[in-house]
Amino acid sequence: MTDLNSLLNAASKLKSTDRMPALFLGHGNPMNVITDNEFKVKWQEVGRNLPRPAAIAVVSAHWLTDGTAVTINPQPKTIHDFYGFPEELYKQIYPAPGAADYANLTIENVKSVSIAAASDWGLDHGAWTVLVHLFPKADIPVYQISIDYHKHPEYHYNLAKELSFLREKGVMVIASGNLVHNLRMVNWSENPEPYPWALEFDEFVKNSLMNNDSTALVEYKSRGRLADMAHPTNDHYLPLIYAQGVRSEKDELAFFTDVIDMGSVSMRSFILCG
Ligand code: ZN
Repeated sequence: MTDLNSLLNAASKLKSTDRMPALFLGHGNPMNVITDNEFKVKWQEVGRNLPRPAAIAVVSAHWLTDGTAVTINPQPKTIHDFYGFPEELYKQIYPAPGAADYANLTIENVKSVSIAAASDWGLDHGAWTVLVHLFPKADIPVYQISIDYHKHPEYHYNLAKELSFLREKGVMVIASGNLVHNLRMVNWSENPEPYPWALEFDEFVKNSLMNNDSTALVEYKSRGRLADMAHPTNDHYLPLIYAQGVRSEKDELAFFTDVIDMGSVSMRSFILCG
């Protein structure tokens, strides 16, 4: 592990033809788009130091499919896939262009899986609620890669390894989920204490990442009840497997926004750059 500032300093010097960093973002509450808080400030700071990629590929917890798909829309729509939030949040859009050329490159280069081209999806809130802070100009082409929700983490890890070529092509891979995500246990009071199991699972993921221990991350279910508490369903965990899968030995790792929000949602995020 290295410190965030020195890694961002190195990242900021990269050209869009260089091997791009990859990121995992703990996106959390959609209200982070319109709330002045520590997450927004840090995401904006990280974004200011990121190189300008040729395109962005997002693996979001909120696009779960039967089989794997990529979006090919020339102008992906902003999807407000959440309910019961203030009207102001539904007015937010992220008008970035699509990246059909890179989506097609993904389809052509992945050999182990047949990837579908989807025009019925745009940018869900796992993607746009973080991109709006990282790249506020919305001028970099973006596409999404779906998560086949019927598959084991090992399948996703192997697919992500095949996707790692994208980084050499100037594509920034952004995985968006949460390292601990138990909505049933969310505590809506102001600044609640994290649950002990939330801290423990977050620490397990942190240590596994620092040890570059892919097996521990893929086999996280072996943590038993701890894993079930942290992830009653694994939609927000699986993006992590994509971030780890596109990682190489060359990459340095740095964490940011490493706190538990609402008692049961880890906001821990990280950048891989090398
Ligand atoms: Zn989410």
